[in-house]
Amino acid sequence: MCLAIVLFAICIKMILQIDLTIVLLNCLIMVEQVKEFERNGVKLSQSKRKEMEKLKSHIDALNLKYLQNLNDFTKFLLLGEDELAGMPFEFLKDLEKADGKFKVPLTSYHVTPVLEHCKVGSTRKQIAVAYGQKGGKDNVAILENLVQLRHKFAKLLGYTNYADFAIEPRMPKTSRKILEFLEEMSEQLSDVANRELNILKDLKIKEEGNAQFGMEDLLYYIKRAEEFKVDLDVGEIKQYFPVGLVISGMLKIFQDLFALRFDEIKDVDVWHDTVRVFSVWDASSSDLLGYFFLDIFSREGKYAHTCVVTLQNGCLCSNGTRKVPAAVILSQCPKEFDGNSALLRFPEVVRLFHEFSHVVHHVSNRATFSRFSGLRLEGDFAEIPSLLLENWCYESISLKMMSGFHQDITKSISSEACQSLKRRRDLFAGLKMKQEILLCLVDQIIHSSENVDIDDLIKDLHPKVMLGIPLLEGTSPASSFPRIAFGYDAVCYSYIWSEVFAADLFVSKFKDDLLNQHAGLRFRNKVLAPGGSKDPLEIITDYLGREPSLQPFIQSRTRNSL
Ligand SMILES: [Zn+2]
Repeated sequence: MCLAIVLFAICIKMILQIDLTIVLLNCLIMVEQVKEFERNGVKLSQSKRKEMEKLKSHIDALNLKYLQNLNDFTKFLLLGEDELAGMPFEFLKDLEKADGKFKVPLTSYHVTPVLEHCKVGSTRKQIAVAYGQKGGKDNVAILENLVQLRHKFAKLLGYTNYADFAIEPRMPKTSRKILEFLEEMSEQLSDVANRELNILKDLKIKEEGNAQFGMEDLLYYIKRAEEFKVDLDVGEIKQYFPVGLVISGMLKIFQDLFALRFDEIKDVDVWHDTVRVFSVWDASSSDLLGYFFLDIFSREGKYAHTCVVTLQNGCLCSNGTRKVPAAVILSQCPKEFDGNSALLRFPEVVRLFHEFSHVVHHVSNRATFSRFSGLRLEGDFAEIPSLLLENWCYESISLKMMSGFHQDITKSISSEACQSLKRRRDLFAGLKMKQEILLCLVDQIIHSSENVDIDDLIKDLHPKVMLGIPLLEGTSPASSFPRIAFGYDAVCYSYIWSEVFAADLFVSKFKDDLLNQHAGLRFRNKVLAPGGSKDPLEIITDYLGREPSLQPFIQSRTRNSL
């Protein structure tokens, strides 16, 4: 803390001695730095700082305890074959048996397939209730305690509540704005969600008689409806995505769209012989913009997820030259299968495309200061370009560029299959989004008001948001909600927020001309290049020429739903 105080003093001194000609960015960087110090308690008295540190440790310990309770949950259900009617043989064959029954562990890996495939409504309900108690009363109490401690922490720093503290540096700025945003989303989705729910209710009546529709039925009947409404063979689709073709197509799309040139650098020392290195150039000026490494093939001991790691941030050096950014994309794609290029599942294609969008965001950054470079951008803004670019995976013209039948790559994926992939993404978008909105509302309400009984709140909100479907009796979502407990407290809304902005950008600027380089270059210069050096809302408003709107998201997703 002492070092922080010294740095804080230096910053204040610099602000006071500031020359009027100093660039705005210099001011911004110092103001932001000062704000960060303040949010870390630099203005507090020593005793209050001690209290803050104690609160932080207490919060960290409770976070861990909450997660530990979830990890320690090892309960299972014993179910007979007739109770598991509809479950695929591959699922059943891997289950242990006891007393002639199948032992179904209460993990999401096992519970989700049962909720999607089991024909027996009472089994779905039994498993949904048992799984909905994961974490138990202990975790509900921990979450309530955590929320109180977070409010206390925020008040020490002068904020009214924890949400105000958490949201201050983010795009919406206030909790009120987020609540309005979520409520409006929920309202606007109600019509389509109602239509979707009626379809599911009809299916339930046909299959089970006139039984009441509950949360345990949602996944099962969505799956059934998808079978009727989307003609898509997942195994067949996979044959069109040989990994090498996906990568070369993906690189071409980004080069064409953003007026970039990627040159592979051969004979360079890297950490593994499957790693490829590329330099990135502006296609018209031939300015060097940055470098990226593709380390996408699986190998033993490698980090198991697909992600981007920045290796160097870009900035303008004092001698006027530019230090260029560099990043690596890590993944676990299989390299070969029976001597042929391995095939990717469609979600893996989307994930790769999403992560590579982060790489392009990073290398397109032209911020003056390293602090505004990299992917350390404002949390709600960082995902918008990647979510926007995911759309290219669902449009026939671009999907054909990165696909081809593995035995004859000249045979591209059919336009009907591309349509089906998009349709499957958007089917029941209203209901799926409403479920997410419900959790985001709970997160926002408990972190913006005090002494809220979380269980009562969920019970009350559930039927209001989910079109009359009550919370499944005997369950307590507060007991197993790791996002609220850890990492996304008060900011669960962020993903929906970013999706809405991404949809607006896509529909307004790209949808009708996916490879329009003029639009792409403008996006690169106006949205990607500033990095974190400008207010994100200002960047997007400036690019769109108006304030962002909810409507394109609602219309595009619901148009393709039902
Ligand atoms: Zn991302």
